[in-house]
Amino acid sequence: VFITIEGGEGAGKTTLIEQLAHTMLQRGKEVVITREPGGIPIAEQIRTVILDRNNTAMDARTEALLYAASRRQHLVEKVLPALEAGKAVICDRFVDSSLAYQGYARGLGMDEVWDINRFAIQELMPQLTVFMDISPEAGLARIAQSAEREVNRLDLEKQSFHERVREGYLQLLRKYPERIVRVNAEQSREAVFIDVLDVVDRRFEG
Ligand code: C5P
Ligand code: MG
Repeated sequence: VFITIEGGEGAGKTTLIEQLAHTMLQRGKEVVITREPGGIPIAEQIRTVILDRNNTAMDARTEALLYAASRRQHLVEKVLPALEAGKAVICDRFVDSSLAYQGYARGLGMDEVWDINRFAIQELMPQLTVFMDISPEAGLARIAQSAEREVNRLDLEKQSFHERVREGYLQLLRKYPERIVRVNAEQSREAVFIDVLDVVDRRFEG
C-alpha cells in the first residue's frame, strides 16, 4: 500500500508518520517511511536547490519542474521497489503538494501542474492520502516554537500564501473524496494519531 500525508506548514506530518510507521511495524507490517522532496540523494540535492533561501530568483515553473523531477527519481529509486517488495510506503508529501502549492497558491493552475506530474509519475497514485488540516496561524505558530526545523525559502512567504495552500488542499479534498481524507490537525498529537489510525484501518480493513 502507498499512503501519502499532506498538509501545510506545522501540521505535524513528520511526527504523525513516525507514530503510524511504529504502529504498523508492531503489527508485523514492513514499512518504509520517506519524504518529498527528498528521500534519496538525488532528490535531496534537488530539495536543497528548491528550498535555498538565496534562490529568490527561482521562477514558479522552474520550481514546479524541480519538484516533479525530484518526485520522479524518488518514485523510481525508492517507492516502486518498496511497493514491489510488498512493503507499505508512507510518504511525507506527494503530488497533492505540487497541486496545492505550485498549482493553486502560486497560481500556475492545477491542470498545468497535473500535466508535468503525470509525465513524472505516470499512473502511480497513492491508495490513501491523509490531509492534515490546520489553520495557517496555528501551523506557523507551531513552527515558530520548534527549534529543530531548518529555515527555508518558503518561510519568506506571507500568511496569505499559506491560506491559499489550504484552499488548494480543500479543493483537492472535494475533487478526490475517495482518495483524500481530512483530519483535524489542530487537535493534540494523540488525538490526531487516533483519527489517522482509524482512517487507515477502515481503508485497509481485512
Ligand atoms: O514538508 P516540508 O515542511 O519538509 O517541506 C519543505 C518546504 O517545502 C515547506 O516549506 C513546504 O511549504 C515547501 N513545499 C512547497 N511546494 C511543494 C512541497 C513543499 O513549497 N510542492
Ligand atoms: Mg515535516
